[in-house]
Amino acid sequence: MTGASKGIGKGIAHVFLQAGARVLIAARNADALAAAAEELSGVGGQIEYVAADVSRADGCAVMAEAAQQRFGGIDVLCANAGIFPEARIVDMTEADMDEVFGCNIKGTIFSVQSCLPALEASGRGRIILTSSITGPVTGFPGWSHYGASKAAQLGFLRTAAIELASQQITVNAVLPGNIATEGLHELGADYVRQMEASVPLGRLGSVDDVGHACLFLASDEAGFITGQTIVVDGGQVLPESLMALQG
Ligand code: NAP
Repeated sequence: MTGASKGIGKGIAHVFLQAGARVLIAARNADALAAAAEELSGVGGQIEYVAADVSRADGCAVMAEAAQQRFGGIDVLCANAGIFPEARIVDMTEADMDEVFGCNIKGTIFSVQSCLPALEASGRGRIILTSSITGPVTGFPGWSHYGASKAAQLGFLRTAAIELASQQITVNAVLPGNIATEGLHELGADYVRQMEASVPLGRLGSVDDVGHACLFLASDEAGFITGQTIVVDGGQVLPESLMALQG
């Protein structure tokens, strides 16, 4: 489970642990991982952590190797790590693009590549990507590179689902709307207030809301679903206008 020291990834880990899974959480900062593992240790299942930078192939190799050594294999990969720094197109530098595409796109593909042998060996491998509504469905000024990276994940997913089907590996994605995470709250109280007001169900999503969708995609019951997406957004993408939102 990548990007799981906080935010949505930690929520996904929480839900999988509640279901009794053995979960390896990965992110770059080992101290944050240790704190998350400690916090989640009483939930159920079994939690381990490994420091790994998914934007590097060698980082993903370390992660896959750790899962193999500690759990003897991998049934489910949740490729969730992602970053969303803001940059307007007019100001965007090549370094801004490399940072976002390096983590969000190369990180997704490296994560999948590194876990493939173990997922194939499991005989029921599941890959679940965390994309976003931003890019595939909506836009937001300052996040054109981010939106492009989240849409690119879905382009990758559709071909990956076909390529990996013969190995009985399914590839699906969750598209969160605005979810209450540390990363989101760093965008400021005004942003959070406006986002809450734009969700028909009247609240931001919780990290567990996303985790439950991932757990479904990892379940036996979802075994015939591949190449698909689940939007987890409280209806945020539905209103055509502010008037529509007022009901
Ligand atoms: P977050 O709270 O900022 O957490 C990001 C996690 O990813 C952290 O554990 C971070 O730990 C890790 N990470 C960042 N870069 C990494 C790298 N290169 N290698 C490994 N781990 C890395 O973010 P979040 O809001 O939970 O977002 C998680 C995912 O959900 C992202 O893919 C994001 O695009 C997507 N999403 C979020 C929202 C939302 O409302 N929050 C909405 C739609 C989609 P380190 O910094 O220690 O590496």
